[in-house]
Parts: sequence; structure tokens; C-alpha cells
Amino acid sequence: MSVVRAPGWMPHLWIRPESDEPVHGMMLRLAASNGLPRLRSFETMVGVRTHQVRLGDRLDALAKVLRCDVSDLQDRCYRRTSAKMRTFRGQTLGTVKDIHTRIRRVCPLCLSERPFHRFWWDFGFVATCPTHGRHLVSECSCGRPLSWDDVELHKCRMCEDGSVHRLTFDLADPDLVSLDRLLLSKFGVGNADAAPVLDELSPRDAFEVAGRVGALDALGYRTKWVEPEDCGEANAVRARGYRILVEGRLPEILDRVFAEFMVTRERTEEGKLPLPRIDNAYGWFVHWFRFRKDEDFSPTLARIIVANAEAKFRLTADNYPKTARSGGTINLSEAAAMARCRPRNLRRLLAKEGLIRPKIVKGSPVRIERSVAERIAHDLADAIGQADLSSLTGLGSECVKTLVRAGSLPCWLRGGGAEAHRFLFRRREVVEWMHRLIPEAPAVARAPDGSLTLARWPYERKISVKRMIDMLAHGDLAVHGLLNGKRDFASALTRAPG
Ligand SMILES: [Zn+2]
Ligand SMILES: [Zn+2]
Repeated sequence: MSVVRAPGWMPHLWIRPESDEPVHGMMLRLAASNGLPRLRSFETMVGVRTHQVRLGDRLDALAKVLRCDVSDLQDRCYRRTSAKMRTFRGQTLGTVKDIHTRIRRVCPLCLSERPFHRFWWDFGFVATCPTHGRHLVSECSCGRPLSWDDVELHKCRMCEDGSVHRLTFDLADPDLVSLDRLLLSKFGVGNADAAPVLDELSPRDAFEVAGRVGALDALGYRTKWVEPEDCGEANAVRARGYRILVEGRLPEILDRVFAEFMVTRERTEEGKLPLPRIDNAYGWFVHWFRFRKDEDFSPTLARIIVANAEAKFRLTADNYPKTARSGGTINLSEAAAMARCRPRNLRRLLAKEGLIRPKIVKGSPVRIERSVAERIAHDLADAIGQADLSSLTGLGSECVKTLVRAGSLPCWLRGGGAEAHRFLFRRREVVEWMHRLIPEAPAVARAPDGSLTLARWPYERKISVKRMIDMLAHGDLAVHGLLNGKRDFASALTRAPG
């Protein structure tokens, strides 16, 4: 890796980060707006490499160039969790297939509206722009590939007058667009319709499941694993799988696959027909599901398979043990498996809501309504830990800690204690609390002179954050603007003291 020394040069023109603009996209835009023909020259002049900021390194240097706070850049880059895994906005991504760092893709229509790079254009599992319903493009109008050596967003660096705006391109398959919309909603980009099974999965897992279900429909009963690529155009297969899941037609597909198994099964050497079991009746699909860890991977998919299999043959106790057979209540460990938490933690949550006695009573096993377990599983999936509160509220981590300790923030499950459980908060409750404190105010693009964000205010004023919260609660601190209309502490503006 080359070491670059910051020579202290500051570009004359700087830019304001756009929402959904990643730090590496900002590097391009900075280079272009300062009239530099090569990204490389710009990197050398400011002493920051794009590959560094993309992984969250040297953000301070980029923040200086942008005249902004490092915290404004933190959810705009990848976080390294292992050699091959990254996270972005809390979602796990693999470096091999999920993130493009060489190929650059764009939606020309998005670019026409606002010329900046959207972070999700880099995701391998996204094929289209959900806003414009078109495929992303990765080539300039001159036919050369777009890359991260270019500077201008709309063209490659090799030609004079190429432009992606000159390309003609067709509307994408609406189901593929809806799948992309669903995957992106997991990153907080736009909203998507509910999709059973896919809703409970991470973006990369949801992408995989859509492909597997599409492949199952396309090729029917097979013993050998089938990849979406085996069935023709992989994206079309995924779109097909997405549609099946949204319409709740997977049971229908499983019926058909089972029927194919029954007519194609071959006699054993003793001349007997093999009986249907979970391992053979649905071919590769159940083997693949086992490889992905069955019901721990997708409880909903496990429920669909169990419901389908139960009606056809006898399931043994160790087939999906955590997935309830038909019936209204489940036991504590089944419910904990559904909520993906430890039984003792689920017990604490249930006790907190008055649903079970807090003390264990010998000989009276806890039975829980399935609907209650599902609701808690849903709440847990949306719950956040203390570490996430900073990015949600815009307050520094020390301030968050103070407020949690003082009990000012709505806390769902207090942490610490003998079990060293971590604190859990319901995202919705924290947002409601924040909105009660921060009144509506006009959206502004930049902070006017003499104003300050609420996140900075206690420092400047030299009072505790707790005191500021009390003042907000009593209406003693006016908010007269919201940066980009965002209603959090890092965006709400108040008058600077003094
Ligand atoms: Zn677009
Ligand atoms: Zn070109």
C-alpha cells in the first residue's frame, strides 16, 4: 500500500454530502468539481486515497477537506468485520460478490436529477434502480466500461464526449425492481411492500432465497442442487422467486415438486418404492435449506416446509425441532428460537410485560401464544443496542451513555447485572422520544451563522446533556431549523450561546 503524506493542500471548492452518497462517491465529485482530470491526482493532492475512506480509514482527512464533522461520514463507508466481510448501515456484505469496487455503475436518470453516486450502485445483488425502474448501467456511451479511475460521474475517462445520458435502455422486469426495492429498504433506502420469508432475512440472504425459490419453480424436482444461473437469466429467476413468495405460492410449488418426486422415485434393490421423507421429498431444496442452517436461517421458510410436509408424510421430532407443528401455543425454547434470543432473555422480556411469572416454577413449563412470540420476535428484530443509539439520535456516545444511565432514554431491556445482558432499545420508542423533544422546524440546507446543532450545544454552553434534555422537554430551548429536514440532535439547530 502506498503511503501518502497530506501536503496540506485544500481544494478550493468543496461539496455538501448528499443523503445516500458514500465517501468514495464524494471523492469523485470533489475531484470533478475542482477540475482535476484524474482521481489519482486529486488523491495525491489532498493526501487521502479512495480505497482508504471506502473502508472508514482517514475519514478525518476527508472531513477536513469537506469542512464537515467526521460523524457525518461514518455511516457512509464500509466497516471491516473480517477479511472477507464488511458491514454497511448495519447490514453484512461479502467482499467477493456483494460489493463492486472496480466496476462503477450508475442510474443515468438518478444522475440527471442529482449528480452524485448512490452507495447502493456498488451492490452486486442490486440490478436496477427502484425509483426509475431501469437496469443500472456500467458502460459509457462510447462502449468502454465505467470505472473508479474516472472522474466525471456520467462518462468514462477515456473519451471526449461520451455520456451515459445518451444511452437508450429499457424498463426492467417490475418484479426484479420490487426485489431490489425490498433489498434496499433494508438499508433505509425507500420503502418496500411486505414479502413473507424475505422480510426476516438480511439483503444478501433474501437475494439468495429469491433465486433458490425461482430455481425450484423453474426446474421442479431435482436431486442435484440448482443455481439460478442453471435456469437461464439469473435475474429473471430471482424476480420469479420474489413473485412466488410475495403471492404466498411457495406451498403450491412444494406440492408440485413433491408430486414429481412421487412419480419419478425409483425402486430400491429390494424392489421397494422409497417412502417420502423430509430428506428426499423436495429434492435439493431441503438439502440447501439444511446447509443454510434450516429454521435458524429462516423460521418462516421452515414453517412453510413443515406445514406442507405434515400434510403428506410423518415428520420426525428432529425435523425442524424448533418449528411448531399445527397448534396455537409453543414452549419457551421454541419461542426463543423464533425470536433468536436465549430462553432466559425471552423469559425476562415476557416477565417485563407481565406475560409470565418472573420466577421459574418447577413442573409448570411455560407455554406461549404463538402470536405473542411472533410479536416479540418482530420487536427484537427491530431492537437496537446502545452502540446504535449514537447514529440514530446524532448524539455522541458519551452523551448517550449519560442519558441511558440517567434513565432519560426509553429503554426496553436494561443491561448489565449478573448476566451481563446488553441493553436493548426499541427503535420506534427512541425515535418517538426524540421527536417529542425536538419540535418540527423548517428544513434548511446549511446552518445559518450563529446557530449550532443540539448535539454541539451542551459542549459550547458547558452544561450537561441531561440538562439540555430537561430544557427541551420544558420548551426552554428553541429549535429554529432542521438540517436537511432531519429531526435528530445532529441536525436540529438552535442559537449558539454568547
Ligand atoms: Zn434512478
Ligand atoms: Zn466514454
